Amino acid sequence: MPRKINIAIDGYSSCGKGTLAKQLAKALNYLFIDTGAMYRAVTYALLENRIEISDQISIEKLLPQLEINFIYRPDENYNHTILNGVDIEDEIRSMEVSNLVSPVSKIDIVRSFLVRQQRKIGENKGVVMDGRDIGTVVFPDAELKIFMTAKPEIRARRRFEELRRNGDELVTFDEVLENLNSRDLQDSSRANSPLKPASDAKVLDNSFITRDEQFHISLEWALEKIN
Ligand code: C5P
Repeated sequence: MPRKINIAIDGYSSCGKGTLAKQLAKALNYLFIDTGAMYRAVTYALLENRIEISDQISIEKLLPQLEINFIYRPDENYNHTILNGVDIEDEIRSMEVSNLVSPVSKIDIVRSFLVRQQRKIGENKGVVMDGRDIGTVVFPDAELKIFMTAKPEIRARRRFEELRRNGDELVTFDEVLENLNSRDLQDSSRANSPLKPASDAKVLDNSFITRDEQFHISLEWALEKIN
């Protein structure tokens, strides 16, 4: 019987971490968890409740009232993010949430609230989790850690095309590029759990390789650890 491992996938914004994590989870029959969606869900809840990010007391009161779940939609082959029973998948991908999520992710109580849940999900192994601090903070003992990167213009182009395909006709390429660069800078320079490769992470630059190629490279890495 092959042993179960945890796979941590970290990296810059819009590197395709979710796509790779999902492919690996499917191939290995593991659970896929998008931790970015969890930070986005908290950001959305703050916006909905008109809570300023400087208002620690209201944030502390709000967090225990938030229940974040994922529901797999087979028709889309995609996990939808559910907050207190309501599907907020479209809302959390908006530019409004994207522009506020990095400042929200700097708040210590938000991080400890979500990291606790993420560790619980991974305690029995068999999880592919993507984010910014999975290999460094959430699962420092994950058997496989992948750190993804790609040139900013290439990432912004992919993200821009995805937003357009999903019906956002107003978004511009420059706006997307600026959002990625700004989030990368904020995520890498924050004091709590900054985005950086774990010392034992395998770095995967996918600027010039296809999704299929990156999947096969990563699956090999995973199988080496499992067998
Ligand atoms: O992965 P995604 O781009 O949706 O993540 C949105 C934001 O959530 C990131 O830019 C980062 O600020 C925050 N994040 C984080 N730690 C994680 C996952 C996401 O700080 N593990």
